[in-house]
Amino acid sequence: MANTRERWDRDIDVLFSAEEIAARTAELGREITAHYEGKPVCVIGILKGCFLFLADIVRTIDLPISTEFIGISSYGNETESSGVVQITADLTRSIEGQDILIIEDIIDTGLTMRYLLDNLATRRPNSIKVCTLLHKPEGARVRVAIDWVGFEIPNKFVVGYGLDYAGRFRNLPYIGVYHGAT
Ligand code: 5GP
Repeated sequence: MANTRERWDRDIDVLFSAEEIAARTAELGREITAHYEGKPVCVIGILKGCFLFLADIVRTIDLPISTEFIGISSYGNETESSGVVQITADLTRSIEGQDILIIEDIIDTGLTMRYLLDNLATRRPNSIKVCTLLHKPEGARVRVAIDWVGFEIPNKFVVGYGLDYAGRFRNLPYIGVYHGAT
């Protein structure tokens, strides 16, 4: 019997396949490993979007790491950041004196990362570096130093591999441009 149901991801055009993401993630992991020269690093993932990228990249980083998470929600409509940010779940311990590596899924305006960097700096870590899987250079509204970027992408709304639209599509193994109704 023919399957007449439409695919639930039919409104998404693939930008990066699961294989491309894995290959780039492994490269980033090698660079990060080389940078820290065996030192311990506290990896901080930004929830929720980072959950797949973080799970994959930590397995390519050959260092004694610890992992923490911080939950951020930014106000605005579903496809545009307002820069007004709230911490919804905080770190579970002090990061004073530690080398911090932030793992983010996507940086667009930079407002969320700016807020987070300022907030974490008040906790007196030894250093803070930023690794983002995706970066939209055209969207930048504030300058943030990004140390490792997986892919630079055009100013389009993307979903998949942790990124959602209205809570959906995080489980897609690929990243794609969403062109359904927003
Ligand atoms: P920024 O503050 O840099 O503008 O945006 C950061 C946050 O906005 C990201 O962590 C993410 O939650 C959301 N965001 C920005 N662009 C996109 C996008 O293309 N797709 C999705 N799903 N979220 C995005």
